[in-house]
Amino acid sequence: MSAIDDLPPLAQVVRAHNLAPTKALGQNFLFDLNLTAKIARSAGDLTGQDVLEIGPGPGGLTRALLAGGARRVVAVERDRRCLPALAEIAARYPGRLEVIEGDALTFDPGPHFDTPPKIIANLPYNIGTELLVGWLTPAQWPPWWHSLTLMFQREVAERIVARTGTRAYGRLSVLAGWRAESAILFDIPPQAFVPPPKVMSAVIRLEPRPAPDNVSLKALERITGAAFGQRRKMLRRSLAPLGGEALLDRAGIAPTKRAEDIDIPGFLALARASETP
Ligand code: SAM
Repeated sequence: MSAIDDLPPLAQVVRAHNLAPTKALGQNFLFDLNLTAKIARSAGDLTGQDVLEIGPGPGGLTRALLAGGARRVVAVERDRRCLPALAEIAARYPGRLEVIEGDALTFDPGPHFDTPPKIIANLPYNIGTELLVGWLTPAQWPPWWHSLTLMFQREVAERIVARTGTRAYGRLSVLAGWRAESAILFDIPPQAFVPPPKVMSAVIRLEPRPAPDNVSLKALERITGAAFGQRRKMLRRSLAPLGGEALLDRAGIAPTKRAEDIDIPGFLALARASETP
């Protein structure tokens, strides 16, 4: 019996199913169900809500999401060794947990959700950024998801939420700030995980902006790639291959500025100007 439900403690589950964590799959498990309950709560009220969880592993966060009142959890896990442990959770919460064995990078949410789910996950660190970029750049906006509550390495979380003029501000901050409002909610120290990672982790929340300025993603990525690729240089140098001073002039930005001085509306103006000769 555990703090949040009548299933066995996670250490026992992992032992019983022989779930030695593997590095290749970014497996750092959370055993403390009070902590997974805190992560679930930080996603807001889950009552009646559909949730997409990536990488449930032995199911610590999955159990917290279900105990926290989620109507339904769809959990995508690549490691088939975890499936029997997850089946025990599904049996405890009949009809509310759907486990999908597969790769989150190719998962198609379409057939699984009638209403936008909250995505809540302790992400495998090796594909976390790629997943986030995919969620921020779907074909349609508003997106198919309701909000994102995600655990990242603290350093990545800082880059996602970074403001103009800071060292962490970069391509990821511009993309995230264009599409969503984001904030770091709290840190999780290495010793909370099995095995402990080398660095601090943080939980962040992103809420989609209703109607972000309509610019071409391709153009924006080209501009931020060039500008932050040489972040110490003035923009007239770093953006020279894309139009240099003439482009900056069309966007109303001083050529002596550097990438980290430019706020998100400034980057959007540059992306737009780069597509209008
Ligand atoms: N949610 C569990 C927890 O908090 O204890 C496990 C989190 S662990 C950091 C990441 C999980 O993602 C592992 O269970 C791993 O097997 C799974 N995973 C890794 N790569 C994946 C992929 N491409 N698609 C789906 N799951 C993946």
